[in-house]
Amino acid sequence: MTQIGTKCVQAGYRPQNGEPRQIPIIQSTTFRYESSAAMGKLFDLEASGYFYSRLQNPTADTVAAKICELEGGTAAMLTSSGQAANFFAVFNICSAGDHVVASSAIYGGTFNLFAVTMKRMGIEFTFVKPDCSDEELEAAFRPNTKAVFGETVANPALAVLDIERFAQVAHSHGVPLIIDNTFPTPVNCRPFEWGADIVTHSTTKYMDGHGSQVGGAIVDSGKFDWTAQSEKFPGLTTPDASYHGIVYTEKFGQGGAFITKCVAQLMRDFGVSPAPMNAFLLNFGLESLHLRMKRHCENAQKVAEFLESRREVAWVNYAGLKSSPYYDLAQKYMPNGTCGVVSFGLVGGRDAAEVFMSKLQIAQIATHVADARTCVLHPANATHRQLSEAELEACGVGADLIRLSCGIEDADDLIADLAQALETK
Ligand SMILES: *Cc1c(COP(=O)(O)O)cnc(C)c1O
Repeated sequence: MTQIGTKCVQAGYRPQNGEPRQIPIIQSTTFRYESSAAMGKLFDLEASGYFYSRLQNPTADTVAAKICELEGGTAAMLTSSGQAANFFAVFNICSAGDHVVASSAIYGGTFNLFAVTMKRMGIEFTFVKPDCSDEELEAAFRPNTKAVFGETVANPALAVLDIERFAQVAHSHGVPLIIDNTFPTPVNCRPFEWGADIVTHSTTKYMDGHGSQVGGAIVDSGKFDWTAQSEKFPGLTTPDASYHGIVYTEKFGQGGAFITKCVAQLMRDFGVSPAPMNAFLLNFGLESLHLRMKRHCENAQKVAEFLESRREVAWVNYAGLKSSPYYDLAQKYMPNGTCGVVSFGLVGGRDAAEVFMSKLQIAQIATHVADARTCVLHPANATHRQLSEAELEACGVGADLIRLSCGIEDADDLIADLAQALETK
């Protein structure tokens, strides 16, 4: 199995003789053992197996194994949301007193998690523009920096991160690069091939694709040598008293230490595990991910070109357009397309956006993105409603910005819908 489409359909689960062809939904909190001794081995991490679904569940692990293969990683886990995945990916290697360098072009929920909530835990973040100079990037590092974080294609700014550049700088400081790969999905970009060390996902978006479950995933490339930076990552390289002094890097190796620690400590203590049914629904989505991503990108390209040709439209932001400042980076990292999300502004600004959106028939107003059904959002009036015009500009979401998430309908219908909304006064 070498091609991404085959992996979308088949990876992670291979039924044995007489077993169900579809992945079984193991809707059970608990698992039975023949002796306390056998169960004790699981609690000591001396044997692998399931005992309580707050930590691990077979259905979730089957789907995690598929995502692991799609990204080309060595280990993976599911979480109950994308927020939980990003929190865990950072918190697994950072404690109070540590510092992280993050791209400023990231999802608003992640920005708040880092800048407000994790700050309360004593972890500091320095935000840099994804297209900052090398000097600015260097200057963001401190002796206590433990990771670099960015999004392949930022939601909603749609900036494309130069993954290779960020990876090289992170590695020169002895820390891993964590990439949220939600928008392109591994169908369009596999950050590990460009030097990223840990990948996260909000599986709520394209991976599910049908708006049926909220979920997240974390994948380890297995390429980061934690022991070479032992003093920076004591949680991975020194004994864990809560498991009789095991050392994760020694016991589970470079490919398994990060995810095992994340499950054994953070899932145990925070319990943000997905419902088995949700993991099953996510797998349904994954089976057609390669087909849907192709269509999302084709539709977005046609829609972006249409919008750019219209005099009512002031600007269009889509990395597939030659006019985009991110065109070259997108060609390098995502030659088959980035994602289905296009942003644009109308000549009439904020007020025109209101009128235009109320006329749309096929594209429906929703806070969701990356769905099979086309959806549209005016952040200044919804997710970013409490911000002033100046604050909106500062976070790269202008008052006029319309975010259009192109679904997998027929492009002609999407364009006709946009045209009639632009034309009606
Ligand atoms: C939606 C999103 C998240 C948060 O994921 P949830 O599943 O909503 O918790 C994180 N990162 C990106 C890029 C997103 O689009």
